[in-house]
Amino acid sequence: MTQDVWLTRHPYLRFVADFHAQVATAAASVPSGGAHIPDWDDYISDYQTGIPLLQSSRVAIDFEPAGAILVLLVESLTSRALPEKLAAECRDSKSQLRGEMNAPQRAVAWLFGSEIFKPAHPGLLRYLGWTALAVHLRPLVDAFSSWREEERWLCEYCPTCGSLPAMGQLIGSDPGRLRLLSCGCCSTRWRYRRIGCPFCENGDGHRLTALTIEGESHLRIDYCDSCRAYLKTYVGEGNESLLLADWSSLHLDIIARDYGLRRLANSLYEL
Ligand SMILES: [Zn+2]
Ligand SMILES: [Zn+2]
Repeated sequence: MTQDVWLTRHPYLRFVADFHAQVATAAASVPSGGAHIPDWDDYISDYQTGIPLLQSSRVAIDFEPAGAILVLLVESLTSRALPEKLAAECRDSKSQLRGEMNAPQRAVAWLFGSEIFKPAHPGLLRYLGWTALAVHLRPLVDAFSSWREEERWLCEYCPTCGSLPAMGQLIGSDPGRLRLLSCGCCSTRWRYRRIGCPFCENGDGHRLTALTIEGESHLRIDYCDSCRAYLKTYVGEGNESLLLADWSSLHLDIIARDYGLRRLANSLYEL
């Protein structure tokens, strides 16, 4: 499944696809040395108690380069042909990041919940900020995936950054079918229990019901009867970059909302 075929079938996604492509092209042109890989022995006890890597006090991850990447990314976008509203938001964000003291570092801290930064356009900055962080963190995310024992985690939040999942993925067929959760922020994918709602408190194993969508053989909406939260799920392998991208299935979010379901999954895209 290529993106072109997908967009021919879902022409209403073209606007968000175009912006996503502009951001991806801009991000690819920004130089990045990549985050330092820590000594895993320092982190293992935190890992075993469910503390995400970026929240561990035992490893020092340098976020400063991510702030610099964010500035270059926003600057690059201001020189591209964008729809006027997005272009204006990019110009405002550039002025803010350039004009306020330590703004790039405070903007990155804001992504993790610090309130020391007030973005002019929070939706755009959350999306671009996580894009910049993902560029910086990519080698770390890869090394972490190779190192960790998945069955020692199985939490509903991302082992790297602590965010709730954006989507789920089912791989293989029964009895050995695996469920993965996918982070929309840092792009980590991790193992989770096959059955159970990742949004109910205490993860008490409420079953999910699968809602299949006509014409979408690889995507479905899994929802919980207890908390009414849903998780868009990609059933299959090989098309992760397209089908786990979240933006490529925004139409499923509209169907879920019309169905009275709640999006508790993390989102970088405001409907
Ligand atoms: Zn993450
Ligand atoms: Zn639930």
